[in-house]
Amino acid sequence: MAKYEHSIERSTEYLRMALPLMSKQAAALHPVSYSVWYEYVAGENTRLRAAVDRQLAQEGQLDEASIHTLYRRHVADVDPQTAQRVADGFQRVLTGMAESAALAGDQTARFGSSLSRLTAELGETEATPALQEVMSSTRDMQQAVARLQQRLDESRQEISMLRDEVRRARHDSLIDGLTGLANRRAFDQRLAVCLATSDAAGAHEQRQPCLLLTDIDHFKRINDSYGHVFGDQVIRAVAQVLQRHVPQAGLAARIGGEEFALLLPPTSLEEAQALAEKVRATIAASRIRRQGANEALERVTVSLGVAPYCRGESAREFLDRADQALYASKSAGRDRVTVLAA
Ligand code: GH3
Ligand code: MG
Ligand code: MG
Repeated sequence: MAKYEHSIERSTEYLRMALPLMSKQAAALHPVSYSVWYEYVAGENTRLRAAVDRQLAQEGQLDEASIHTLYRRHVADVDPQTAQRVADGFQRVLTGMAESAALAGDQTARFGSSLSRLTAELGETEATPALQEVMSSTRDMQQAVARLQQRLDESRQEISMLRDEVRRARHDSLIDGLTGLANRRAFDQRLAVCLATSDAAGAHEQRQPCLLLTDIDHFKRINDSYGHVFGDQVIRAVAQVLQRHVPQAGLAARIGGEEFALLLPPTSLEEAQALAEKVRATIAASRIRRQGANEALERVTVSLGVAPYCRGESAREFLDRADQALYASKSAGRDRVTVLAA
């Protein structure tokens, strides 16, 4: 059951509770703020509640930095889809309010024209002061409803924009900026899901998820000789090769400075080894052009470690074994693949 399948009544209630709390803070009213306060008033996220209370007791207010830290620690990490759902929830609440306002506007308008017709029939002179007062209040009311509708429209547009921002932020939070590959966080998430799925599958399953760890050889030397800008270019070039080789159900990620991982869906060890060898050979055969260096082409190599998943082991243990295989490739002279049998 997803966390944010609260009914519209419930979400409205939370919104009403969250708004005054939110507006007292130094942080601006954006979806990150909404998410923190929504979680706070919904009350299920006890760790977040405690952290907010602690912060308020110490600082009196939440500023931009603390709101973002709280969000990252207690909302996004718990459930990366949260911000999106919250923003969607607010959009729904506002749509509901706008519809009610439109209805109220129509009714008021109809009431106003009945009154006008009545006055016309009675003739101006016969419109009693009481009737005139009702007409004037009706006009006020029509104007108030129109203003409310306009404000709601504006809020809706704003939320739409915020929702896009959240979508972008969520995407960015899982993507490595330099290479466009999945980042460490996305990798950890995918690995956890992949291992849980694998543990749930039958024990008779022959093929297991495999991990290919890749580390650029003598990268410090590359940086020292040609500078960081070229170093970054090398990282991007290696990333592209990995991206080209990853099977559809797999994931290519940059998990460290010049370290990458390919997570393969259940695969035979022979296939995993063959893929690793292909990656190694492709990179070894490529020549990276240095910009502004008169066609000087540099040779770069990588070392790889391959390990199949052993049912029941933790992600950490799985990574450690692949790392041992990688280390073996380094010690044996680099530019090679080592496979660690299960
Ligand atoms: P080895 O063959 O044993 O892997 O040698 P190495 O020189 O590659 O050793 P190591 O893995 O320790 O060095 C990694 C270097 O990568 C150190 C760090 O300065 C550099 N580095 C890490 N992240 C980046 C980055 O984003 N850009 C650049 N240009 N360099 C980075
Ligand atoms: Mg390294
Ligand atoms: Mg290295």
